[in-house]
Amino acid sequence: MAKPRGGAMRRALAVLLVFVMLSSVVSPTMAANTAEMKPIMATERTELHKNINIIKVDPVLENATPYWIIIAAGIIEKGRAATFKYIDSSTNLTKEEKIELKKFVKELWRKYRVRSIKDGNVTLITLNSKAGLNLTQEEKAMLEKVAQAVNEYFSTKYGGDVGILWNVDTHQSIIYISCIKWGIYRDYCNITMDHADDPDYWPHLPSDHYYNPDTGVGSAPYYCWYYAYGARSYYRNGDMYNAFQGLGWASHFLTDVGNPLHTGREADQALHKWVHTAYEDYVSNNWESGYNFKSVIEDNRYYYAINDPWDATENLASYSHYYFDTLYLTIYNNPDTWQSSTLVRSITEDSLLETAKYVLGLVKYVTG
Ligand SMILES: [Zn+2]
Repeated sequence: MAKPRGGAMRRALAVLLVFVMLSSVVSPTMAANTAEMKPIMATERTELHKNINIIKVDPVLENATPYWIIIAAGIIEKGRAATFKYIDSSTNLTKEEKIELKKFVKELWRKYRVRSIKDGNVTLITLNSKAGLNLTQEEKAMLEKVAQAVNEYFSTKYGGDVGILWNVDTHQSIIYISCIKWGIYRDYCNITMDHADDPDYWPHLPSDHYYNPDTGVGSAPYYCWYYAYGARSYYRNGDMYNAFQGLGWASHFLTDVGNPLHTGREADQALHKWVHTAYEDYVSNNWESGYNFKSVIEDNRYYYAINDPWDATENLASYSHYYFDTLYLTIYNNPDTWQSSTLVRSITEDSLLETAKYVLGLVKYVTG
């Protein structure tokens, strides 16, 4: 699409024309929606998380091995039982291999003992010894087998499609609701919704849909900024199709990092990709029924003013990342019951609420 050229007069005319077009199409829709729409208000970021009990795993342990979750699980009976369950349920391991693996894991938990330190509502899981973690090649190979058993368990029990994101419908739903809340013409909201899932069909690296605030790895902030900035220019030039398409794409990358599992360690995610998928299916399955997570987005009336979509994406990632270890460990430690966990539900609701405020801000950034 060629950029409009010409003098200030021509630009002013273009803007005026857009304004006339907008007022003729937007007004009736706004009027129709007034009754159901409550005002949206700006609010300051507080970075206050929900007052729930959180688990943090010491970065020394997390950085030492992508299999840290198996070692951390050794701290409680539930985690140990879950690990044995994954091994026992595997159809790829022989009886002898299972016995050998369980013996290995038991020894591993003894060798690399972890302890917990409680500070307020945060429990830190850390290695008992200051010596750190130096896994032998053999230990790594054995841990890989355990990880495969975990993946096998979740893929068999929860199935679903392996994605690298929130599920497609979640992305679309969040941006559509946010767009409608600002009273934007429904046809434009439909354009942005239709394109909100596109990036998941692009030949992207998984890390393009991630951002890990601890390591700075992941390109989601860049992509959100790139498409939002472009969308805003299109909007100002009156190119509504490209503006709302771009808003849909930008919102995708912002929404992705609202999912705590999109802010974690990429290696672990590949390793336990089925845990990740099972969680996203859980959100999807409870979107309009069950826990009705969609209502968190619908009921929210606040937005964060966004000046820089890049920073905004990083800030949202930091917020949801706070929950990463807790979410991951809770799912791991409760192979059959995590879906009814109040902790998992609270984390999901709080992350979605924060996401809703940012996405509203993004819509305003582009169209404001
Ligand atoms: Zn994505």
